[in-house]
Amino acid sequence: MEKPQTPTLDKMSKVSDQSQNIGAFLDWLNQQGIFLCKNKEIFDLCRKCDGLCQKEDVICSLCKGTGLYIYRTDILPIKKSFNNLLHEYFEIDPKEEEKERREIIRYIQEIKK
Ligand SMILES: [Zn+2]
Repeated sequence: MEKPQTPTLDKMSKVSDQSQNIGAFLDWLNQQGIFLCKNKEIFDLCRKCDGLCQKEDVICSLCKGTGLYIYRTDILPIKKSFNNLLHEYFEIDPKEEEKERREIIRYIQEIKK
């Protein structure tokens, strides 16, 4: 049995120092009571042109022709775990990671026989 290819695990191993440092910083932020949030812009029809400047040739000075304006900005807490965010940041597919881990375990069990 040949040793399986593990491009995802290799990539993770390359960024592991960096990833651990970022993770430690994020944990520290939480200990300080600082949590990650995301801006969500809520749009409404432009109050000056009622969205009509999309249909007409006159470009409205408030919405600049989009017909919309930002009515308010909500701040939403991020529900994703730091681990998930770090996977996204380093572009690591968790499914591939799991698959490669299983293949490596199967390989180790095989060569031990
Ligand atoms: Zn407008």
